[in-house]
Amino acid sequence: MSNRSEQLFAEAQQHLVGGVNSAVRAFRSVGGTPVFMRRGEGAWIEDVDGKQYVDYVLSYGPLAIGHAHPEVVRAICDTAASGTSFGAPTELETELAVLVRELMPGIERIRMVNSGTEACMSAVRLARGYTGRDRVLKFRGNYHGHVDALLVEAGSGVLTLGIPGSPGVPASVTETTLTAPFNDIDGVRELCAEYGDSIAAVLVEPVAGNMNCIPALPSFLQGLREICDDSGALLVFDEVMSGFRAALGGAQAWYGVQPDLTCLGKVIGGGLPVGALGGRAEVMDMLAPTGPVYQAGTLSGNPLAMASGLATLRNLARPDVHASAEAWTGRLLAGLRERADQAGIPLLTHQAGTMFGVFFTDSDRVIGFEDVANCDAERFVRFFHGMLEAGVYLAPSAFEAGFVSTAHDEAALSHTLDAAERVFADL
Ligand code: PLP
Repeated sequence: MSNRSEQLFAEAQQHLVGGVNSAVRAFRSVGGTPVFMRRGEGAWIEDVDGKQYVDYVLSYGPLAIGHAHPEVVRAICDTAASGTSFGAPTELETELAVLVRELMPGIERIRMVNSGTEACMSAVRLARGYTGRDRVLKFRGNYHGHVDALLVEAGSGVLTLGIPGSPGVPASVTETTLTAPFNDIDGVRELCAEYGDSIAAVLVEPVAGNMNCIPALPSFLQGLREICDDSGALLVFDEVMSGFRAALGGAQAWYGVQPDLTCLGKVIGGGLPVGALGGRAEVMDMLAPTGPVYQAGTLSGNPLAMASGLATLRNLARPDVHASAEAWTGRLLAGLRERADQAGIPLLTHQAGTMFGVFFTDSDRVIGFEDVANCDAERFVRFFHGMLEAGVYLAPSAFEAGFVSTAHDEAALSHTLDAAERVFADL
């Protein structure tokens, strides 16, 4: 372990809560000291001791075209030179909105915000305002940012009424949150039979990326669309992770299922803080200033963030760029399975475009939270630390998805697979 990271972490803990500014960075679920990073280029990042790693975290998803891409860096620098924020409209906001609409044709109107959490929070308020209903339905193991009403841990049992998942969230806030198991359409039907006419929104991660990586079953999303059409609830896809990753047009393009509202984040800002909420004009126009549902933000549509997102999406949308990163992801997973197999380690993998998951399990089906919880957590921890030591940076939790960028090349692939071969041999 890096001495410099240990020193920096000890110092950080004196000043920052837990030494970090986002809980998962603290390595609590894998043990050890978080590695402090100092630079990134393409698929690689470098820690404070100069050690290099192939990066599969990519800032938890945003860096779809890799670290410090020259087009993104130039766009940010050029924009910054003309001023960083105006509190007035800029052309860049419309340009990014136009590009997002081209990639996701079901989106008719967009509101830029500053994070995925904000996008989901506003989606819930808008759905409630539009439908005049209070309840929201979410799925066990799906994460929608740290929105009070959505920070609900489902209890055991098939269907559970919301219990706050964190101190500080009043029960009165989550009592209108219903939870159901992911990928279980019958469970949703039962719940809707009882509460259907009071449900404002059904929120789902179409590719769940916060319980490792679990793409929804196509029939599940199709079923949700039908249930929402019947009950009058809005179908909200949280594509903060899957947007511009499951496919260029997001999971909605991959599955061919059209939500009423889409939450975006991560890639849309290309590494700067951005989120967005988009959807049918009739619903979106309920937001202030055209409608009565209040929503605002001092730095929303920030020029630097818009420039970074635009440069990222323009690059990603060029012919074959995203497709080749998807193909690379497929080769990575095939290579990992082959090497695990040679070492006698049962390994299941999932892929959704440039998102992926690896599961240490001999089961051939992982479709929900319990399946992930049943995987071999200790083996994951050994795998994580072995790969870290060998210069491959994975998320420090078995409940996070992995990400690939367009900068991941042959050198990154062989480095990763050679490392995995050595690590699997000792697992
Ligand atoms: N929704 C999903 C699916 C996410 O994965 C995340 C973050 O990981 C969020 C919402 C929250 O986004 P942010 O961390 O930008 O607030």
